[in-house]
Amino acid sequence: MRRKTRAVKVKNVQIGGGAPIAVQSMTKTDTVDVDATVRQIEEMVRAGCEIVRVAVPDKEAALALKEIRRRVPDVPLVADIHFHYKLALMALEAGVDKLRLNPGNIGSVERVREVVRAAQAQGVPIRIGVNGGSLEKDLLAKYGAATPEAMVESAMRHIRILEDLGFHDIVVSLKASDVRRTVAAYRLLAEKVDYPLHLGVTEAGTPFAGTIKSAIGLGILLHEGIGDTIRVSLAAEPQEEVRVAWEILRALELRQRGVTVVACPTCGRIDVDNFVGIVTEIERRLQHIDEPLHLSIMGCAVNGPGEAHESDLGVTFGRGVGMIFKDGDPLRKVSSEEIIEAFVREVEQMVAERRAK
Ligand code: SF4
Repeated sequence: MRRKTRAVKVKNVQIGGGAPIAVQSMTKTDTVDVDATVRQIEEMVRAGCEIVRVAVPDKEAALALKEIRRRVPDVPLVADIHFHYKLALMALEAGVDKLRLNPGNIGSVERVREVVRAAQAQGVPIRIGVNGGSLEKDLLAKYGAATPEAMVESAMRHIRILEDLGFHDIVVSLKASDVRRTVAAYRLLAEKVDYPLHLGVTEAGTPFAGTIKSAIGLGILLHEGIGDTIRVSLAAEPQEEVRVAWEILRALELRQRGVTVVACPTCGRIDVDNFVGIVTEIERRLQHIDEPLHLSIMGCAVNGPGEAHESDLGVTFGRGVGMIFKDGDPLRKVSSEEIIEAFVREVEQMVAERRAK
């Protein structure tokens, strides 16, 4: 059961209100470099990114947003603003679809009101993004540290500022750099408000450690029905963050997109050389496929046919030869040297057949 939340629209993507959990990420280019930023946005979208956030640290970046907007007119764009309300107004003028800003950090109520009125006029929601690393000093003094309770109190302050101005088109995130605090903070907030929640473990780290941290933190919450959109933060290209986010959603069977590859861990019975290389290359070659497909690649006949039975397409190796299975039935044998090409072709053909139906 998913937690019931309000629906918030970011261009053509709905967050909350029972909508599929949206995958988002953030560009890592200098926003002023429009060419590089647009190129990265396009790569992110190809990888499955549904909402793209762009940092707007200064006036030049806010001005660049106009051209970025023009060049990616269909992509839901979020402007990430800290402290400067004028940049928020410029971003709205450039036509962004969502703002990420904390109203308590942009000065007087008058300034917040100006941003809120402009956002309301354009139907643009605001994400309040509380980060454990930048909590208000008085809350740190009150709680002694950036505890989950302190993070939730900070979020509630920002929420009330917007609510007092009659603004309810709100998404909230509560990110900490460790799993336990992140999970505890979201659980607490989920009991207090019905705004959709943007999940993330911030500054999660390098791809290996960060993927594990994100999968555990986001996985626990999503499994409990908490979370309406996710962002995986890694010290890596944003496309990698998007791929990890999709893998988390697929593993929890919350959304389907692209190929899911079941591969055996190998053991002393393995019947082919370079099994890991073959699986890795097949996965890489199939990254462009959006259609949900279940594939299995198994090192010997012990579990191969069984897994192939559960798959759209499968390979089971035996004495250096791969038997390709289609819809659970043996199709043909291919030598291990030719298996990558042959299997990728079969998958692409199956996608083409399904599209033609
Ligand atoms: Fe070992 Fe065969 Fe199982 Fe792979 S499928 S782990 S090679 S027994």
